[in-house]
Formats: sequence, structure tokens, C-alpha cells
Amino acid sequence: MSTRRDFLGGLTAFGVLGLLPRELGPAGSSADDGPGGAPTTYELPPLPYDYDALEPYIDAQTMRIHHDLHHKGYTDGLNKAMASLAAARDSGDYANIQQLSRLLAFHAGGYFNHIVFWNNMAPADRGGGGRPEGKLAEAINRDFGGHEKFQAYFSAAAAAVEGNGWGILGWHPALNRLVVMTMMNQQDLTTLGTVPLLMCDVWEHAYYLKYQNRRPDYIKAWWNVVNWRDVYQRFEAATHSH
Ligand code: FE
Repeated sequence: MSTRRDFLGGLTAFGVLGLLPRELGPAGSSADDGPGGAPTTYELPPLPYDYDALEPYIDAQTMRIHHDLHHKGYTDGLNKAMASLAAARDSGDYANIQQLSRLLAFHAGGYFNHIVFWNNMAPADRGGGGRPEGKLAEAINRDFGGHEKFQAYFSAAAAAVEGNGWGILGWHPALNRLVVMTMMNQQDLTTLGTVPLLMCDVWEHAYYLKYQNRRPDYIKAWWNVVNWRDVYQRFEAATHSH
């Protein structure tokens, strides 16, 4: 997986999920890769920056707990669900298939969503903050009527998520446009086919230590660490692969 061409030419399960080539590195795979190179177990990828890199907008303690405990928990849960489903296939016992299917969706969602989320952010001296440029800016203008309207719309949608969930800017190939959507938990209310470009975690674990119940304040601060270069790369990959 050394080039984007290789990646696009040989889409794995990761490709379906919309991961970028750099997210297919050793951290996301294991020695016992299955057919087609798809990992059979998954490891927690390291943060792409230090725990305190996003201060003062997101505090180091929140980042440490969020990555080392929460993201780790989804990774372990994904592996456990995969193993349980493999055992069910071997035994032919599908008595728990409904629960296992739910666990797979939840933990695979948690595993994947946080990889996008970490890479969607960067400290100011490494590209965090600012505004999108080029074709992405044009698409935002076309589909949302301007950057300010997009930002207000995304912020309102993310702030209004009931309970735990995410705000998402995605590219929908069939609609041929950008969409803003919200997701409950790690997987609910989303539309298949949408490629996530920018994801804002609005679970309380993402902000409560610093912002308590002030989720809108967290979202407002979060814009200061959005890595638009990463979002642009995802946009390019999503719009060029169809
Ligand atoms: Fe989270």
C-alpha cells in the first residue's frame, strides 16, 4: 500500500470505510492478515500528535483518556465482535447474531470514526484552523451557500445530537454533493455510501472535563483545530474514486 493508485486499485474493507492510504499502515493491521491483505485483528493507531498538541482548545487529559481508553475500548470491542462472529460461522450457532451484528456495527464505527477524528485535527502550527481552499471551498459554497452558512449549519447539527454521537461533513457520490449529517452513538442515522470527510465527536467524553455541559462552546473551539488539509485529501479521494 505504498501509493494511492495501489490503494484505489485494491480496495479492502478499509477502502469501503473510506480510510486514506496512510491509515492502512502497520498500526491498523496485524501479522495474521487474511485473504486480500485485510487484517483479522486491529490495533489502536497512535495519535498523530502529542496529547497536549491541541491545547488550549482540547485539553491533554481529555485527549489521553479519549484515545488510550475510549478508542482502545472500541478497538478491543471490534476484535471481540469479529472473533465472536468467526466462532458463530464455525459452529453454525447464530443464536446471538442480532447482538453480535449490533456490536460489530458499534465497535467498528467507534474504531473507524476516531481514526478520522484524530486526523481531522491538527495544532495551529501544523495546519489546524483556518478555512478550506480550492475545490473543497467551491463545493462548500455550492452546496451550503458559503463557508459561514456551512459552519453554522454543521455546528447547530452537531450541538443538537441527542445524547452521544457525531457531526459529519460527508461526500455522497450518488447525490454528487456534500452533505452534513448527524450520527447517534457510533453508527446510527447515517446513510450508506456517504464518505466522511470531517467528523466532530460530540460524545461527552470528548469535551466534558473542560467544557462540562457546554457542548456548543466545545464545537466552537474545535473549529480552531480542524485540519482542512486532511479534509481536502479525503474530499479529493472521495470525488476522484467514482
Ligand atoms: Fe469519542
